[in-house]
Amino acid sequence: MSLQYVQGASLFTHINEVPKQYAYLTQNISTDVIIIGGGVTGSILGYYFSRQNIDCVLLEKSRIAFGSTSITTTLLQYELDSSLRDLEQYTPLENSLKAYKLGLKALDEIDAFINEQGNNCDYEKKDTLLYTSKKEEIAEVEEEYNLRKTHGFSAEFLTASSNPFSFDLKAGLYAMDGGAQLDPYKYTHQLLDVSSQKGLQVFENTEVVKVNYLDHGVEVETTYGYKVKGKIIIVATGYNTQLFTKRNFGVKTTTFNIATKPVTSFGGWPGRVLIRDNSSTYHYFRTTADNRILAGGEDISFVPGIFNEDAALEKYELLEARIKTMFPLIKDIEAEYKYCGAFASTQDNLGFLGKDPKNDKLWYCLGYGANGILFAILGGMMLSKLYLGTFDENLKLFKLDRFDG
Ligand SMILES: Cc1cc2nc3c(=O)[nH]c(=O)nc-3n(C[C@H](O)[C@H](O)[C@H](O)COP(=O)(O)OP(=O)(O)OC[C@H]3O[C@@H](n4cnc5c(N)ncnc54)[C@H](O)[C@@H]3O)c2cc1C
Repeated sequence: MSLQYVQGASLFTHINEVPKQYAYLTQNISTDVIIIGGGVTGSILGYYFSRQNIDCVLLEKSRIAFGSTSITTTLLQYELDSSLRDLEQYTPLENSLKAYKLGLKALDEIDAFINEQGNNCDYEKKDTLLYTSKKEEIAEVEEEYNLRKTHGFSAEFLTASSNPFSFDLKAGLYAMDGGAQLDPYKYTHQLLDVSSQKGLQVFENTEVVKVNYLDHGVEVETTYGYKVKGKIIIVATGYNTQLFTKRNFGVKTTTFNIATKPVTSFGGWPGRVLIRDNSSTYHYFRTTADNRILAGGEDISFVPGIFNEDAALEKYELLEARIKTMFPLIKDIEAEYKYCGAFASTQDNLGFLGKDPKNDKLWYCLGYGANGILFAILGGMMLSKLYLGTFDENLKLFKLDRFDG
């Protein structure tokens, strides 16, 4: 069964033209690495593997970047969704701190890519704010701030009296250069453009329907019968993993987003920083290069195959009301795009990168958890090295069987 993971009219696929359409597969071919999935994750893999001159092919069942990538809010932040203290229930503090540092490294990688290849995806470095408007959560935010300071992260603690924003803030953790934002649709296409020039072969409208493991390698069959032979496959299919494994990755929720029409000013939002609140369930906010506000959150449980339109409409209204309350100085807030989709959380907030514990030819790059896109960058870096024979110790943080019995 093919499940629907994205609903509604996404901002990024509506405001952008399709920069390039790739061919579908029309013959049997051979390669070394078969990347399955043409979202941002598969495209990041394509970039890192082709950069190392590894022969690879990317297969996308529908259109490039029309899955979760089309609706991701793309807040790129080194921090995870839960606080360091909360994460300690599931993983040692040392691991979460390592993940924070790796997040910063992944941010630097994106920055380096833009410096090298040009900014064709509205990339912008951003400070980030994590805040609460509840008195009873002040201590929690302060503790997170203290932990970050102790471990060398650059941050400031905001209180109601030092609050530069127009919304009610009782405590805030302001991280300098803690994040970035970009247009995920343009970024995915830019990655593929660069990678194609380095030899990556990309096929759209080419669904993998069967995987055959051979004595020396692996072969995938696609919709119209053409096959690709390789040494390994890497599953970068987002939430569609059922064809490859019975393994259950993460707990899925549906998360909701609205994008406003462009607004005329950003009063009450200095620096247009990335904002996340400390609520359960949380909300997140950013702006776009064409002066829109993106607001997201209001997560509910994901029920496979069922889309509750009434619930979605209610959530979109709540998000619009929320930004109007937070930013009274912005007078022309009006939601234009409304969409939602599946999101998978994991206990330690990290994704899954690496080989299947029982099958050396089956690799995964799944950006589940807090920072899907940054995890994909780490996956691209570490998995391409692994393919060339170097195991990065940090891969252990993301290993597939870390929650097994
Ligand atoms: C509303 C929302 C907001 C989010 N906000 C953030 C955020 O702020 N920051 C962040 O880091 N992450 C965020 N995420 C998570 C983010 O969406 C993901 O990390 C990222 O976009 C996933 O990209 P992907 O390429 O892994 O998946 P997808 O974009 O879904 O790509 C997978 C691709 O695989 C293809 N595919 C599937 N099966 C097959 C097959 N059998 N053969 C060939 N192709 C196949 C699909 O068609 C699809 O195009 C958010 C997610 C949602 C839903």
